[in-house]
Amino acid sequence: MKFDKEIRNYIYGELVPPISGNYIDNYNPALGTVYSQIPDSDEKDVHRAVKAASRALPAWSRCGVNKRFRILTRIADIIEQNLDEFAKAEAIDTGKPFSVAKAIDITRAHSNIRFFATSILHFASESHHMESEAINYTLRRPIGVVGCISPWNLPLYLFTWKIAPALATGNCVVAKPSEMTPMTAYLLSKACIEAGLPPGVLNIVHGLGHKAGQAIVEHVGTKAISFTGGTETGKKIALTAATSFKKLSLELGGKNPNIIFGDCDFEKMMETTVKSSFNNQGQICLCGSRIFVERHLYEVFKTEFVERVRKLKIGDPFNAKTKQGAVVSKAHMDKVLSYVELAKSEGGTVLNGGEPARLRGKFKEGYFLKPTIIEGLPYDCRTNQEEIFGPVVTIMPFDTEEEVLLYANSTSFGLSATVWTENISRAQRMADQLDAGIVWINTWMTRDLRTPFGGMKNSGLGREGGLEALRFFTEPKNVCIKF
Ligand code: NAD
Repeated sequence: MKFDKEIRNYIYGELVPPISGNYIDNYNPALGTVYSQIPDSDEKDVHRAVKAASRALPAWSRCGVNKRFRILTRIADIIEQNLDEFAKAEAIDTGKPFSVAKAIDITRAHSNIRFFATSILHFASESHHMESEAINYTLRRPIGVVGCISPWNLPLYLFTWKIAPALATGNCVVAKPSEMTPMTAYLLSKACIEAGLPPGVLNIVHGLGHKAGQAIVEHVGTKAISFTGGTETGKKIALTAATSFKKLSLELGGKNPNIIFGDCDFEKMMETTVKSSFNNQGQICLCGSRIFVERHLYEVFKTEFVERVRKLKIGDPFNAKTKQGAVVSKAHMDKVLSYVELAKSEGGTVLNGGEPARLRGKFKEGYFLKPTIIEGLPYDCRTNQEEIFGPVVTIMPFDTEEEVLLYANSTSFGLSATVWTENISRAQRMADQLDAGIVWINTWMTRDLRTPFGGMKNSGLGREGGLEALRFFTEPKNVCIKF
């Protein structure tokens, strides 16, 4: 598999240029240079894709689960067989370490497809028996043509997380990856062609959010939208979709608490906390960016945490020792740095980082940031309330469960939370009271694909994963038979 300089849309089984002939630059964030071109698609390309999907729908929705299982499994196999090429493309496009792209992003991408390919074989619908009167059963039919829109932080991982259940349940899809990280979605279109996915079943339109993305949400032909991205974009999508009553799944931003009690397993907590703070340069919606530490452990925690974070190797994404690659773009780097300035103005002290990492040689124009730890901020200041989505964490002491619950639940977000304690009763009390769609006790990012995934409050609407996704992408119809 080779990387083309010019990415193309994937419509009705073919790789095609955008109708306008316009392209946008695609950057390699580790080098700070343009390395390929992305179609600057507009509503005309989206219309073409929706037409293609509508044409493919009757056959795909009725072809039976075994055929869908076989083709999806073939796509998963092709990704797995080309793991290195996909991971290389992901690392170049995002700036993340190749080791992370390989072990996390691409491995999860083919697992997503395989998971939903097999789930559909076991997907059962409900029946309700009314004693000696009637029986009800529920048919679950595909919705039709659906739109899937994903962000840049875990590109193929999140793209496949939506597309796979949509296709497995018999829908045809018009999908758009982030304009900042389009390359693995493009490689996926090649894998679909190789696997023999019928033309039009999946269509991938590249381009900008307000243009191509907005056109997918606005199009009368898309009956549901599954979106992952920022909360503000989610609001816009919800407003646009409201007038046509499209079914919506929104996975949005987070500002997740990492709560550390004094009775935790210190070593396990410390090792995981370094990861939950800075994996993927802190650009994971589930990263624990607000760290609350029980007061009597605070100083010990702080000293050890700063020491370990200082040792994280920053630089070449293809060096096996690298732990911190580049952030995704210059604009994002500037946004993250502006939050460090805000934190200082709010009274915070930077214990580590807080500035770009100046690398030499070919990486000198790359977007590298030092992992940043800030202390001394109140829980309700802007730095502790707004999503930064970069390698920045704050640390704060607390005294009681009630106090830390107040701090943890104080934001408008509610995606995930992590709690470190060996006291199972306390763990359960916290899990019960935290405003979060996912609570991890003594772990982070341990994911079973069958579980409901998503956030409460401004972190989202609905859940993905397992049955939740299969249900989202199907329309239930109750049939009642009177005896
Ligand atoms: P973003 O909202 O800017 O963009 C996400 C996608 O939406 C992109 O493909 C973009 O082109 C598209 N888009 C933008 N405007 C649009 C519009 N008006 N209509 C339709 N589509 C539009 O987000 P981002 O910067 O790419 O990603 C970072 C955000 O994603 C963070 O807030 C992060 O927390 C969130 N995120 C959430 C989850 C989750 O599961 N909850 C997972 C990963 C990332």
